[in-house]
Parts: sequence; structure tokens; C-alpha cells
Amino acid sequence: TAMLEGKVVAVTGGASGIGRGIALAAARHGAKAVIIGDLHDQPREGGETTHALIALSGGTASFRKADVTSRADMDALVAEAEAFGGIDLMVCNAGIAVPDDGPEIAPDVFRKLIAINQEGALLSAQAAIAAMIARGKGGSVVMISSMGGLRGAGFTTGYSATKGAVNMMTAALADAHGPQNIRVNAVCPGLIHTALIESSPAVAAAIEPMCQRMPLRRLGQPSEVGDVVAWLGSPFSSFVTGVTLPVDGGQTAI
Ligand code: NAD
Repeated sequence: TAMLEGKVVAVTGGASGIGRGIALAAARHGAKAVIIGDLHDQPREGGETTHALIALSGGTASFRKADVTSRADMDALVAEAEAFGGIDLMVCNAGIAVPDDGPEIAPDVFRKLIAINQEGALLSAQAAIAAMIARGKGGSVVMISSMGGLRGAGFTTGYSATKGAVNMMTAALADAHGPQNIRVNAVCPGLIHTALIESSPAVAAAIEPMCQRMPLRRLGQPSEVGDVVAWLGSPFSSFVTGVTLPVDGGQTAI
């Protein structure tokens, strides 16, 4: 059986980058419907929208304008799944990477990172969990965290702080909702080839030597994160909850 056969999947930040890779992977792994939420539907890397690509390959997908900093938007995104029988997998992917501003991080930059990466992850997870509880069939929530939530080296203060918080929310939510068979896990991508990485010249310049130090010696692709997320949303990971799983070519291990 396909990993996500019969499953209804929602992805925040699914227009671009890793979220786009996750949405496409969900369709490839047999999802019944993929619901994409984002601020806009245009991919940062260009090309067809994610939902159009899925439709072109014969899948079912829709787009909804939804900001993760709004609980109302997240409830509306999750409600779109009702037409297909209800949400099975929520992927809390939307996030930003903003460098610290010199030796200190500016308070407004720090608060923006917290609002989108941390509070946005919580609001999107909670909206899905509320619907899953009401439906009574369990479910899976996957947070797209970061290697920056597991180690300090090579990451900016604010970004790492929010991703570390996402990892701990994952554990706490897994504990709270395990009895309802709602599994909550985090994937911690390493260096993945997206516009987010290319948006910072400093990061882009640092990448080549970083690749040469990691076991697999290359950047990852969004599809490789998507395959792991599909597994976490599938019955093939039914006894896995509360984990923070690096998908990083081995970088965290060394
Ligand atoms: P990206 O910028 O390519 O895509 C992010 C998407 O999220 C965009 O489509 C954007 O419009 C959307 N978004 C931003 N703010 C939003 C909001 N408030 N509400 C809804 N959508 C919003 O970035 P990416 O590299 O694909 O990153 C996706 C996730 O993966 C982030 O959480 C990021 O921290 C994480 N991550 C990325 C990497 C990497 O190497 N690219 C590594 C580790 C973790």
C-alpha cells in the first residue's frame, strides 16, 4: 500500500521550498487530498503552483491563503479537510530564517521569529489537534523544525531559539495527546536546497565547506524531507511519537 493512501494532509507554507516538497511527496505517496496553506500561492523558486503541479499529476489539491500567526486562519485551513472526511496529517512547516542583526539580535527580529516559527507552529498544531480530537480517529502532526534546534553551532540565536522551542513543544504535545492516538513528531532538516538558503549570501557562501564536512557531502532536497514526513504521517510509523528526527545527511551526528 502507498504510505498515505486515503489520508488527508494539510501543509502550512506549502507554496515554496520544503513545504512544497512535502506537499508533492504527500500526493506521490497516495494522499487522498493535499491542502496547502500559505501567504500566497506563488513558489519562491518559480514554476507552477504546488496545487497545480499535484493536479497535473492526477492528485487532489487545494490552496488557501492562511497565515500561521492567525488561529482563525489555521482553523479555516483545517476545516477544508472536512470535505474529504477530516484531517489525518498536519505538517507545521511555515517558517522564516532571519539572521541576527550583528552581535546582538534586535528585539523586533526576535519577536517576529517567535511569532512565525514558534507560535505559528503551536497555532497550526493546535488547530489540527482540536479537529482530530473532535473526529476521534487519531492523527499525526509533524513539525518542521531544524538542525538549528538541536545544536548551536552555525545558527543564528533567534532562529535556533524558536526551533529548540518547537522541539520541546513536540515532546509536550506528544505526551498530552498520545492517549487520543494523536502522534506529534518533529523533523529537523539540515541543509536543504531551497530559496530560504539562497536568500542569505552569508549562508550560501558557508554552504560548500559545510557540505564537505557532513557524512553525505551534499545538500538535501525538499523531496527527501517530504518522504520522511509522509512516513511519519503513515501507519508505518504507528509507534513513533515525540521524536525530533534529523534529516540532515548526518551533520548532527558528527
Ligand atoms: P521557504 O522560504 O522556501 O518557504 C517557506 C514558505 O512559508 C513560503 O512559501 C512562505 O510564503 C511561507 N510562509 C512564511 N511565513 C508564513 C506565514 N506567516 N504563514 C504562512 N506561510 C508562511 O523556506 P524553506 O526553506 O522551505 O523552509 C520551510 C521550513 O523548513 C521552515 O520552518 C524552515 O525553518 C525549515 N528549515 C529549512 C531548512 C533549509 O535548509 N531550507 C533547514 C532546516 C529547517
